[in-house]
Amino acid sequence: MLLRKKLIAGNWKMNRTSADAVQLVKDIVVVSGKEHNVDIVVCPPFTALESVARLLEGSVIKLGAQNMHPEASGAYTGEIAADMLRALFASYVILGHSERRSYFKETNAFINQKVLAALKSQLKPILCVGETLQERETRATLKIVQAQLEQGLQGVSREIATNVVIAYEPVWAIGTGKVATTAQAQEVHAFIRSLLATLFGDTVAQKIRILYGGSMKPANASELLAQRDIDGGLIGGASLEARSFLDLIQAAAAVK
Ligand code: PEP
Repeated sequence: MLLRKKLIAGNWKMNRTSADAVQLVKDIVVVSGKEHNVDIVVCPPFTALESVARLLEGSVIKLGAQNMHPEASGAYTGEIAADMLRALFASYVILGHSERRSYFKETNAFINQKVLAALKSQLKPILCVGETLQERETRATLKIVQAQLEQGLQGVSREIATNVVIAYEPVWAIGTGKVATTAQAQEVHAFIRSLLATLFGDTVAQKIRILYGGSMKPANASELLAQRDIDGGLIGGASLEARSFLDLIQAAAAVK
């Protein structure tokens, strides 16, 4: 019996209109809408959340958003608050994705505010951490991941920490086709789990899911998902086609 249920989350990024999203989700729901061995989350763009939410009704698949603002409301043109996502039946939100960190200059402190606001609104944050190629080459991976994790989770209490999901996403592997080796990924996942144990105690750390993200595809997923501390995947490119996303769900379901 696995201690942690595998989780496969699709990050569609800035892809699919509301109408295109409907077709993609229909195909996913038909095949995996009753899959109980894996938690499944789809994270469409904001504009497709409502249409996707309607299709997910009655299925086990959960809805996630790709970002949010930490404030509850106010003069933040173009932004979306946690309760607005909850009102559309979102249960997860991706926070601190490397594209937000690099293109939108999001800092660990700002991401931390979002993590706390998400939890306050009963949204489960998927907190992304990961090093750039240069950081890996200069052996700074663990130091960077530690800072992102500790600062990102500041103020999160042990009681609600199991609602957090961590995604380890080496930046050099995102959308590049270069996947981390199982040894590289497992090393960082085990390190993250040890940090979580220091923050929240071992029992809680054993319950928190740590996803791998970065060019995960049906061809490389089984080996990654079989690693002791890899509890699922945050999937970009391969979540945009029903067939490959469904194959990833199958790969997760097959792990014993
Ligand atoms: C991502 O952006 O979260 C991601 C993992 O992308 P890809 O699977 O395309 O590398």
